Amino acid sequence: MRLKEKRTDEPFRQLNGSSLLKGYQFAFIDEGAKQEIRRKILKAVSIPGYQVPFGSRELPIARGWGTGGIQITLSLIGHEDILKVIDQGCDESVNAINIKRFIIAVTGVPTTQDTIEATIIQTRHRIPEEPMKEGQILVLQVPLPEALRVVEPSEMETRRMHAEADYSKMWVYLYEDIVRFGEISIGARYPVVVNDRHIMDPSPIPRWDIPKLDRAEALFLFCAGREKRIYAVPPHTSVKPLEFEDFKFRVEDFKGAVCSRCGRVNTFLDEILHEETGEKVYLCSDSSYCEKGLLEQRRPNPQDPEQDRRDIHATFPHSNG
Ligand SMILES: [Zn+2]
Repeated sequence: MRLKEKRTDEPFRQLNGSSLLKGYQFAFIDEGAKQEIRRKILKAVSIPGYQVPFGSRELPIARGWGTGGIQITLSLIGHEDILKVIDQGCDESVNAINIKRFIIAVTGVPTTQDTIEATIIQTRHRIPEEPMKEGQILVLQVPLPEALRVVEPSEMETRRMHAEADYSKMWVYLYEDIVRFGEISIGARYPVVVNDRHIMDPSPIPRWDIPKLDRAEALFLFCAGREKRIYAVPPHTSVKPLEFEDFKFRVEDFKGAVCSRCGRVNTFLDEILHEETGEKVYLCSDSSYCEKGLLEQRRPNPQDPEQDRRDIHATFPHSNG
């Protein structure tokens, strides 16, 4: 379903095109730098999961606040693109809004909150719930690109380990984790094997999102601005979480909890405390997906509009819809 209401981000509609920063070229970074980043992206796509070093540029944002993701977005974006930016699944958090505002100011491209409509989605810590399609690019901001850092402090040594596919230390680490805690205790940043070759840090996405990387139609690009690394998962590439035969990888279990806004069950949920009652309630972490669920529920049923109204009141007792 298309979200007509959300076709363009309302708060950004006036900004698009009319408030381009004067004195800067299109997409802020100089063309030579963009070319270098695009060459590094091509290399990363050619060797899935391999970390390619690049000359990370200065941006008017401190490193550690998404500068890697922004550099990828700026080096790829064109006038015909439609941009979506999310932070922890949300389109309207401070980090997402400020990144979006900056990219609009230097490109003038239209933005959207609709996952299906966007051509480039920049994200921190989530993959959208709706499956992305061929031709779409998901740009992930990465704080720590090295999955092996937890077992090996030396960069020289981790690069040797990757070169020789010597991942025994990582397997021992997982084994010890199981001995100590009875299960693999890693939550976000769950290590994966890409294309049956490189162990890769998928950035701090929840385990819930890991299966979405496997043989997907979209292109995933990862970039750490501070650590100066680019890596990629091209479309239709195998991405497998590390697991043992008798200790399988599993995603987060919400034990049947329901989003208190759209009523969905099969979605990654954030647990929050209700402002008035203080009770624990759950909300979809992907705000655009939640919004779509809500609109779908509110769409009148031509057979029986009254039935629809009753359903909504049963799900949302305080709703006026
Ligand atoms: Zn929801």
